[in-house]
Amino acid sequence: MISLDHILDKAKRVGICGHVKPDGDAYGSCMGLYLFLKTYYPSIDAKVYLEDRYPDSFRFVSCSQDVIHDYPIEEPHDVFFALDCSDLERLGSSGAYFQAAKNTVVIDHHVSNDGFGMICEIQPEASSASELVALMIGRERITRQIAEPLYMGIAHDTGVFQYSCTSSRTMMVGGWLMDTGIDFSRICDETFFLKTYIQNQVLGRALAESILMMDGKLIFSAIRQKDMEFYQIEPKDLDGIVQQLRVTRGVEVAVFLYEVQTRRYKVSMRSNGKVDVSKVALYFQGGGHVRAAGCTINGGVHDVVNNIAAQVEKQLLPSSQMSR
Ligand code: 5GP
Ligand code: MN
Repeated sequence: MISLDHILDKAKRVGICGHVKPDGDAYGSCMGLYLFLKTYYPSIDAKVYLEDRYPDSFRFVSCSQDVIHDYPIEEPHDVFFALDCSDLERLGSSGAYFQAAKNTVVIDHHVSNDGFGMICEIQPEASSASELVALMIGRERITRQIAEPLYMGIAHDTGVFQYSCTSSRTMMVGGWLMDTGIDFSRICDETFFLKTYIQNQVLGRALAESILMMDGKLIFSAIRQKDMEFYQIEPKDLDGIVQQLRVTRGVEVAVFLYEVQTRRYKVSMRSNGKVDVSKVALYFQGGGHVRAAGCTINGGVHDVVNNIAAQVEKQLLPSSQMSR
């Protein structure tokens, strides 16, 4: 595993960023690393850059107000970290800082990551980028402040220590974090389980309007821009819908779409194991993990779903049937 101390030796200006539309792990890993720098490397000028706003529920994390959302022209950073990002494009506006930096570090757990940094720690078997950051910092140096965002990140990417990406190492790291005295049940409730009334209404609607295809092996639902305007919701309010679709008995793949521009859909996919949805996402220039992946596709709902279904079917059909 790469050594943070080695990387930070002699660095004066350090930048940290996660992927666009930061989720719990992107935010948690960035803030965990940032709070580590503030605590143990106070002379380093460290900054966290996240182009998009994060959910309000993440604000309990110490120093959340320090996150920078705009991109002034700055001197190149000595070291720039990209966390939980599978490719340069997913960095959004932070990509320019990343490319200009003297030293670049990629810490990630996406199978689709091809190692776009000068120094890379990519472990597809890790539950989360937050797990990797915790391991790099090491048990002795993890304070309660540092533990809070890292626990959130791990909890989110593992569905609260439940998805198959959860390993005994994940549980061990979770234990280290717990031992700092964090209020772990509150973190999970406040940032993962609790939904607003509107979010629950939209979830209910998405479930009610969901459609089964491929003999019940694929389920999909979609939300259009006009519905999002009606409910006055943003993409981050849609978290959890695809997970709920996935736990439909008999389903292999759940697909949830939301319209980002007219006839342009952001696609979230979840698999119950038989289908590698990162392959499907990659086919449409997206990425992710075997059981959770995403991409963006142009077209109407039915075109998008049919195109995805064709790729899913390729994986579900035995090869002998494919050639017919
Ligand atoms: P979600 O469905 O929660 O948005 O994303 C599931 C997983 O797929 C996450 O790990 C996320 O980073 C990845 N992912 C989602 N959308 C994209 C995309 O457009 N490009 C890439 N490379 N990865 C994505
Ligand atoms: Mn992640």
